[in-house]
Amino acid sequence: LEIADEKIIERVLNRLICTHCHAPYHLTFKAPRKAGICDICGNPLHKRPDDISEMLRVRQRAFQRVIKPVLEYYQQSRRLLVINADGPMEKVSAEIVAAVQSLQNQERRADAPTEPHRAPVIVSGIQPPARNKEAKTACHLILVGAPGSGKGTQAEALRDTFQLAHIATGDLFRENLKNQTDLGKLAKSYMDRGELVPDDVTEAMVEDRLAKSPPDSGFILDGFPRTLPQANALTEILSHFERHLDAALYIKVPDAVIENRLSGRRVCRKCQTPYHLLFKQPAQDGVCDLCGGELYQRDDDNPRTIRSRLETFHLQTTPIIKYYQDAGVLFEIDGQGDVAAVTRSSLAVIKTIQDSLR
Ligand code: AMP
Repeated sequence: LEIADEKIIERVLNRLICTHCHAPYHLTFKAPRKAGICDICGNPLHKRPDDISEMLRVRQRAFQRVIKPVLEYYQQSRRLLVINADGPMEKVSAEIVAAVQSLQNQERRADAPTEPHRAPVIVSGIQPPARNKEAKTACHLILVGAPGSGKGTQAEALRDTFQLAHIATGDLFRENLKNQTDLGKLAKSYMDRGELVPDDVTEAMVEDRLAKSPPDSGFILDGFPRTLPQANALTEILSHFERHLDAALYIKVPDAVIENRLSGRRVCRKCQTPYHLLFKQPAQDGVCDLCGGELYQRDDDNPRTIRSRLETFHLQTTPIIKYYQDAGVLFEIDGQGDVAAVTRSSLAVIKTIQDSLR
């Protein structure tokens, strides 16, 4: 059922669903007889929490990315029927009925495979930015490590030394939360429990962010990917942008050390610089040395959520270590030493990689 994105937005934003029998309604096109009540079973209608403009954009991006191979698959096996889904319901139903009947007639006539009803028009998603020759030396990195392994601190050092864009998914979610966006509110429920935000939402957010970064600049992804599907999605997103990953830096730290680190961590509300009550105190209590912003303890840095985040890491994130090992781009760094020593190791690895790109 093919339909332009703008039409979908118009349809979905005004959609209501019955909380009991799930019958769909629409404020303009199919209003219930009594406002807010299902005509069929009399139960209240509700708006799906993800039927909001911001999430819709995210869902559309995720859809566009995954749908192309599916359409190609059915087209190649000559089983694809494309129906124009724009217009009144009766018209769309009539077109479906006509298409299926014509198929049945063909089968009766020849028992032969059918031609597609019409070639599909595939919405291409984001256009890859033009690739600049200079881009060859730009470094594209990801940082893998348990929460509190020091990814943020290392990312900052690498960003400053190699002029890379620092993209931290946790920061992007927190920024959305601070701005009270729908994406932020959705993410909060997962973050508070120490769980991961669903893959499609996170992937679409990263794709959106990468689309905004200049094609010739390098980047360092901090906290993404965190699951195998995200790692696969990243490979796909990067190939779409004609980029590829140069290195995955795995910062390895034992759980006990992590628990200690996270419970004493404080972060600047304004510039996100991390501090620690014991290991990296600010000059003035509760105030950021760099921007004067207020230091605070993240909601998810409490003992219970820390344990659950570590569990999530071992269950969902460690498989990507093998993924990048198999791809030959994994570099392991001992993250236990003092910050300066870990930074020296990270910089040395990236320096070697950058030299090899020249
Ligand atoms: P961080 O600041 O990287 O520790 O992330 C804080 C929280 O944001 C995580 O516990 C997750 O709930 C969410 N989050 C960050 N990155 C991702 C990701 N790649 N996939 C899913 N959820 C994420």
